[in-house]
Amino acid sequence: MDCKETQRCIHLFLRDELDGGTAQEFVEHVRSCNECMEELTIEYLLSEGMSRLENADDIDVKKELGEMLNRTMARVKRKKQLKAGLFLLMSMLLCMFLLGGTG
Ligand SMILES: [Zn+2]
Repeated sequence: MDCKETQRCIHLFLRDELDGGTAQEFVEHVRSCNECMEELTIEYLLSEGMSRLENADDIDVKKELGEMLNRTMARVKRKKQLKAGLFLLMSMLLCMFLLGGTG
C-alpha cells in the first residue's frame, strides 16, 4: 500500500471500516511511514477533538493511536486464526459427514 492509498484509507480506519487485509496493510504502512502517521494523527485529532471538544487537552494522541493500531492488528490476527479454526471445523464436519454416510 502506498502513501496515497494509505491516506485515502485514514477516514475508513478511524471509522473502523477497513476490512482485515487492508487494515493490516494500513497499520503496517503508518507504522513505518512518518508522513502517513502524521496525517493519521491530524485526522484522529480532528475527529476526536470534535466529539471531545471540552476535554480535548486530555487526548493523548500518541498513546491512543498506538492502542488503536495495536487493536486493529490484534483483530486482524484473531480473524485469521478464526478463519483457520473454521476451516479445521469444516474439515472435521465433512469427515464426520462422509464417515457417517458410509456407516
Ligand atoms: Zn506513507
